[in-house]
Order: sequence, then structure tokens, then C-alpha cells
Amino acid sequence: MVPRVVFGRGSFASIDTILMPKRRNSEAPFIYLVDAFFEGTDLHTKIPLLFDDQIIYISAEEEPKTEQVDALVAKLKADYTELPSGIIGIGGGTLLDMAKAVALLMTNPGSSADYQGWDLIQRPGLYHVGIPTISGTGAEVSRTAVLMGPEKKLGLNSDYTTYDQVILDPNFLATVPKEQWFYTGMDCFIHCVESLEGTYLNAFSESYGEKAYDLCKEVFLGDIPKLEAEEKLMMASWHGGMSIAYSQVGVAHAMSYGLSYVLSTKHGIGNCLVFQFLEEFYPEGVALFNKMMQKHNISLPKGICANCTDAELELMAKIALGMAPLWENALGPNWESKISKEDLIAIYKKI
Ligand code: NAD
Ligand code: ZN
Repeated sequence: MVPRVVFGRGSFASIDTILMPKRRNSEAPFIYLVDAFFEGTDLHTKIPLLFDDQIIYISAEEEPKTEQVDALVAKLKADYTELPSGIIGIGGGTLLDMAKAVALLMTNPGSSADYQGWDLIQRPGLYHVGIPTISGTGAEVSRTAVLMGPEKKLGLNSDYTTYDQVILDPNFLATVPKEQWFYTGMDCFIHCVESLEGTYLNAFSESYGEKAYDLCKEVFLGDIPKLEAEEKLMMASWHGGMSIAYSQVGVAHAMSYGLSYVLSTKHGIGNCLVFQFLEEFYPEGVALFNKMMQKHNISLPKGICANCTDAELELMAKIALGMAPLWENALGPNWESKISKEDLIAIYKKI
């Protein structure tokens, strides 16, 4: 679990007092990895730069890649004689995962691709702080940093991955565009559905998952003021992330990974594209999802897989079926007898 967290509007201002005791010396800087959306805004005036601290703006146009992490690590090692005092990630799931991965690879040798998997990271990373600017993925609380690698899209899952400190300041959410707000918010809703409907469910996951599910209903189906909705979605993301930390996601995530691997579809919208066709697995969740889409006038793109070749569809299904724990959670220990490559291809063809 994340050992330290502050929450509240304006809480970002406490960053200087939070970081002060963690600065090792004037040669060991803090590195801020910031979503390029904030380049040209006044955010940099609120970042307490000292000595050789550096802000690096990174585009979230594409999801994070192992080679990008490796290049950043090489740059930081070349730029400074000492290891940084810490890495601060400011942005959505893309930047939060990138910052976690960079913090880990500064102290673990080799390429980030070597650590895609479970508990392969051997040493603690640098001190790292996560500051979400869009809510839903739960990346601020999870023990994984999802990266696209040369062979697979898979996270660096380890006890060292989790942030040392998180700052939850709902003021960051004001500028998120509506569609993106919905897609990333639905990531959280789908985490809850997949966790609560899964066979891995236990009392720990259920308690967080139910809370996040109710918060999502308030945010996406209730009529609450915008500021309150921002705060509630931020906490829904947190609880949704906590829920899957002790269970697993399911069919939508497995299939969305396949889509993303072949077509580079982003996580939030990819989950939505798949989830709309999963009523046989999650009838109640899909019904609520449709209501939420209607209420917010969201229309998903169509024909995404229309031009896919048979080989591409096969690859999507293969990647999806490769995620055994997700299927076992969704369908139970005999999952292989309950789902086939052909079933998945039929769903992909509808997207
Ligand atoms: P994102 O980080 O990719 O950002 C989506 C878009 O929103 C980008 O264009 C970004 O610039 C913009 N944006 C972010 N904050 C903004 C703000 N305050 N105002 C205006 N625009 C803003 O989106 P995401 O959905 O948060 O993250 C997706 C990524 O998260 C994927 O790479 C996925 O693999 C990862 N993920 C990780 C976990 C985990 O547990 N580590 C869980 C789920 C998803
Ligand atoms: Zn997700």
C-alpha cells in the first residue's frame, strides 16, 4: 500500500514541505515527469525547483513504452553525477506509470523490459511521488507500472513499484476534456465490476470495490455539483485500485490489452469499446454503463476492427487469452473450457 497520502483541494502546495526532508543534498535533484498538457500553463510556477531540479514534459499521446523508460533513465544517469533524490510523476495513468518505472530502473540494472512480470524487481527504486491529474486508472495506488514492451504489454508488478507518497489534489481535474474524463472514469467503473464479479473476490477487495462502485454511480448517474464529482471520482479511482490490488481484473481488461497491443488503442477507451459487448459476462455492469453513456452523450467510435486482417484478430485473441489470471478470475479455474479464441474474435468483430 501507499504509505503516505494527502488529499484536498490545494494540497499540491504542500509539495515543498513534503519533499524537503527527502532531499539528500544539493547534488541530488528532484526530477519532475509532467504530462505535456501542462507545458505552457502556470504549473511550473507552483513547482518548488531548487539547485539542479528538473522538469521533463512528456506526451501522453501514446502509452508508456519500455524503450522510453530506458532512454529517460540513461539521460538522467548521464545528466547527473549523483542519483536523484526522487522522481515525481504528475499526470494520468501514462505519466504515473512512467514515473514509477523510471524510479525503479534508476536502481535496478538492465532494461525495463527485463522486469515486465511479477516480482522481478530486486531492489527498492528511488523515492517516488505520484500526483494524478485525471482520475480512474488507480495507477496512483497500484503496485504495477504498465509498459508496452518489445514482446508484450505488461506491468512491472512489485512491492517496490507502489508510490512512497501520493498527493491527491482535485484542483488538477478541472481541465480534463469530457470524453477523456468519461473513458478514464469508466476504467475505474470496470475495475469495480470485474473485481466484484470475479472468483478471486475476498472481503478486502469487496469493501474497496463496493465503495468505488457506489462512488462511480454517484458521479456518472447522480446529479451532484462538479467540484463534488471531481473529489468523489478521485476517491473512486483510489478505492477501485485498492480493490483490484487484492483481486484481479477480468474479461474487459484481457480483451482491451489485445486491442491495445495490435491497434495501439488507449486503455480507457479500449475498455469501453470492449465492455459494451460483454453483457453475457457482466449484465448489470453493462446496463449501467449504457445508462452512463446515454446520460453524458458519449458515442463510442465504430468499426475499429473492421479493417483488421484475420491474422490481426487472431493475435488480439491470443494476447487476450494469454492473460490467464484475468480469465481465471472472471470465469473460474475451468476457464479454458468456457471461452475460445473464436468467441473472442466474434466480439472483436463487433467493435
Ligand atoms: P493518460 O494518462 O493517457 O491521459 C489521457 C489524456 O488526458 C492525455 O492526453 C493527457 O494529456 C490528458 N490529461 C491528463 N490530465 C489532464 C488534465 N488535468 N487536464 C487536461 N488533460 C489532461 O490517461 P489515463 O487514462 O489516466 O491513463 C492510461 C494509462 O494508464 C495507460 O497507459 C494504462 O496502461 C495505464 N493504467 C495503469 C494502471 C496501473 O495500475 N498502473 C491501471 C490502469 C491503467
Ligand atoms: Zn484498467
